[in-house]
Amino acid sequence: MRENKSCALCPRMCGADRTRGIGVCGCGALPRVARAMIHRWEEPVVSGTRGSGAVFFTGCPLGCVFCQNGEISRRENAGSRGRIMTEDDLADTFSALVEKGAHTIDLVSPTPFTDILIRAVEKARCRGLSAPVVWNTGGYERPETVASLAGTADVFLTDFKFSSRTLSRSLTGVSDYPDHAAASLREMVKIAGRPEIGEDGILRSGVIVRHLVLPGQKEDSIAVLRTVADAVGADAVLLSLMSQYTPDFYRKTGDGKLDRSLSRRVTTYEYETVRDEALRLGFDGFMQERGSAEASYTPDWDPK
Ligand code: SF4
Repeated sequence: MRENKSCALCPRMCGADRTRGIGVCGCGALPRVARAMIHRWEEPVVSGTRGSGAVFFTGCPLGCVFCQNGEISRRENAGSRGRIMTEDDLADTFSALVEKGAHTIDLVSPTPFTDILIRAVEKARCRGLSAPVVWNTGGYERPETVASLAGTADVFLTDFKFSSRTLSRSLTGVSDYPDHAAASLREMVKIAGRPEIGEDGILRSGVIVRHLVLPGQKEDSIAVLRTVADAVGADAVLLSLMSQYTPDFYRKTGDGKLDRSLSRRVTTYEYETVRDEALRLGFDGFMQERGSAEASYTPDWDPK
């Protein structure tokens, strides 16, 4: 298994031997699941009327200072939260979520567990799973890893967070995010194709690009939209333009200083300027009401 020897699943390529310890993402050999739940707040084509079957994994290769799920994503927390699961446990969990009514299997921050998830999905499908599998990622991916998901992921729900390397570095610690996000997006579209929505209104295959508009960063948001349009074409994906950033989630950056630019919510003017550019470029998808920016959107994580 790639994750167990010299891990190179994500662009960090940290080479961790996860049979002995954890990688930069905070992940060991087996996944820790912080919560498996019916989730009603994904995009309508993923959550439908009954909700997605969301499985939240601990750890993350990125480490954004404004992460809404920082309680489980940060390296220092990843090894102590959630329940360790085998591939059998995961396959059982997927089946249980579908039995509860989930329209989709929604794997949140799955990349460090790519290999075990490929096997778990295969096992679940052998047992009758037919719900679309959604690879719900921050977008910091290697095209090689994305390519290995052909036949596993039906839908990619991927962030495209920044266009500026400087902004990326200041908010995630890595400057190469925009390059990897663009390269992996091309691979996602190659695998999943153009959006195909079933009669039930659920996305059967395709790519949703999520972008969270940040306060003071509307120019970078516009650059992100243009990058996506140039990389794959505006009509090749659905766009989910989000306004839900709230300062409740920001934390001290690595050098100990609070990032003051993140101390407010995005304004209506900022959001609408970005939205207008999205429409001008020809994107279709989902816009978010500013009133939905609530910290209470974060689920309660299961204890260890
Ligand atoms: S997934 Fe984790 S362990 Fe693997 S290369 Fe990335 S940071 Fe390192």
